[in-house]
Amino acid sequence: RKFNFSAGPAALPDEVLQQARDEMLDWHGEGLSIMEMSHRSDAFVSVATQAEQDLRELMGIPDNYRVLFLQGGATSQFAMVPLNLLGGRDSADYINTGIWSKKAIQEAGRYATARIAASTESAGFTRVPSQDELDLDPSAAYVHYTPNETIGGVEFGYVPETGEVPLVADMSSTILSRPCDVSRFGLIYAGAQKNIGPAGLTVVIVRDDLLGRAAASAPTMFDYQVHAEADSMNNTPPTFGWYLAGLVFQWLKRQGGVEAMEAINRRKADKLYGYIDGSDFYANPIDAGSRSWMNVPFTLADSALDKLFLEQADAAGLLNLKGHRSVGGMRASLYNAVPEAAVDALIDFMREFEKSNG
Ligand code: PLP
Repeated sequence: RKFNFSAGPAALPDEVLQQARDEMLDWHGEGLSIMEMSHRSDAFVSVATQAEQDLRELMGIPDNYRVLFLQGGATSQFAMVPLNLLGGRDSADYINTGIWSKKAIQEAGRYATARIAASTESAGFTRVPSQDELDLDPSAAYVHYTPNETIGGVEFGYVPETGEVPLVADMSSTILSRPCDVSRFGLIYAGAQKNIGPAGLTVVIVRDDLLGRAAASAPTMFDYQVHAEADSMNNTPPTFGWYLAGLVFQWLKRQGGVEAMEAINRRKADKLYGYIDGSDFYANPIDAGSRSWMNVPFTLADSALDKLFLEQADAAGLLNLKGHRSVGGMRASLYNAVPEAAVDALIDFMREFEKSNG
């Protein structure tokens, strides 16, 4: 297999894919694939329950939080959050740190005032705001932020303090990359296709007291309470994604959990940023304290070389390094399933490329 630096759908651990392959035609002697089973069968319910238990254990999710396995991607959460959490209020606070925050803000604006509590747009989104820069409204329905901006490559090194106002986080590209104190949040959501599993599954972790508050006009499928009461089986859930996420959670536990991932992810990111900073040929524009461990955008000294870089990287088995179409340049995503050897191989390739073209 080649090294895959895709921002999403992203690399999955070899072991997980091998296990899924071995179980593909005949899951645990049942004589059929997990994909062909009723979601209400004992076999699937045991898979679903185990996946939730493992995620709870990995993240230390307190008992007063519900874990939902939904569809619709993180993008649906941009609407579901205001539809459920406004609770009759007409304003929520949003921290604007880049393209994904902006999309969340735009969608929330359809239902209420999405008040900007802080924005780093004037700094070109090259850093996150400090706690002191947050201008929070104590009467806001909630505060929304994006702990890791997948496209810009900026990441919060702290959890914003929001007092009594529930904190909502789009953790799509950082969930499970390191320990996280779930009790600081009212709600966490994440599309699965980066650090959890295949696309098509969205994980929501929501505090009990925020359930049952959906707007009367909210579609049934957009009401968290409906999903919580039905154990995420109000309709047919994304069974294969849920199963595969469960295999990833077990793999993570075998790696030593999120504490072990934190050490590995820090090392991977430090190596790559260290190499970029030490070179005159490559550059990363993000403030040192706001750099993402998961998504490392970088540019070459001469953008005319981008195409050649990508072609040669591809030929060297280093895939999907092209930056997002909105920003150009390169981006290496270093999610949990990207091994340290991939980063070493990338740095070796970058060094050789610089030698030949610098
Ligand atoms: N939020 C963040 C931070 C993302 O990185 C992405 C996708 O890349 C999304 C939201 C959108 O997720 P989805 O495609 O699951 O709707």
